[in-house]
Amino acid sequence: MCRHAAWLGPPRGLAALLDEPEHGLVRQSYAPRMQRHGMVNADGFGMGWYDPASGEAVRYRRSIPIWTDANLPGLARAARSGCLIAAVRSATIGMPIEESATAPFADGRLLLSHNGRVRAEAVRSLVDSAESTCDAAWVAAAVFARVRGGAPLGDALAEVVTHAGTKDPEGRLNLLACDGATVAATTWGDTLYVDDTGQDGVLVASEPLSDRPSWRPVPDRRLVLVTPGGVRVEPL
Ligand code: GLN
Repeated sequence: MCRHAAWLGPPRGLAALLDEPEHGLVRQSYAPRMQRHGMVNADGFGMGWYDPASGEAVRYRRSIPIWTDANLPGLARAARSGCLIAAVRSATIGMPIEESATAPFADGRLLLSHNGRVRAEAVRSLVDSAESTCDAAWVAAAVFARVRGGAPLGDALAEVVTHAGTKDPEGRLNLLACDGATVAATTWGDTLYVDDTGQDGVLVASEPLSDRPSWRPVPDRRLVLVTPGGVRVEPL
């Protein structure tokens, strides 16, 4: 299982997800505390944010361990936005290790990460093509196709997760996505935590980035929607 995290609130640097908090994603890449599948997230990493001038999504991803990118700490401090997403990857057995298999997957303003695994047959009927043979790339392509067809982000996540999860009862489909104004996430087989108290924005992550008591677990099979208006949690 990979680990992923997002922020919605006043502009912050990506360092707020990666290396500022004690258990940020850099630490979680080699010492996650709640990971049940896989032990080390060394098969790549990625992050996305929104350019303050144009509002366009910017993405940076590599297929190397996050701790080996010496340029990252400076970039993560400078890349500031009110909507941030980042992920570290532990490739599922049989999946390629390449940039195109690494989250966040992107389509216009949409950025998406998949924490889990799902059988190919369960997602390939949902969309014609994906940028990689990796299951996560197919899941992302299926969500993007639905949003392009007019579905709200949360509905698109819910539809893809319930469809794929029903076709593959062993599938694990924790998704995390954003569009610059909303963060949406699903729980389907793995942990997810939200921290929306004690600060001016909302953090969502596979596992807490710090020991702050304000981190709350999200029950399984839920859709989480974070907007400037607050956090909504709905059953899937
Ligand atoms: N199955 C996805 C991949 O191979 C996600 C892996 C994970 O959550 N560890 O990239």
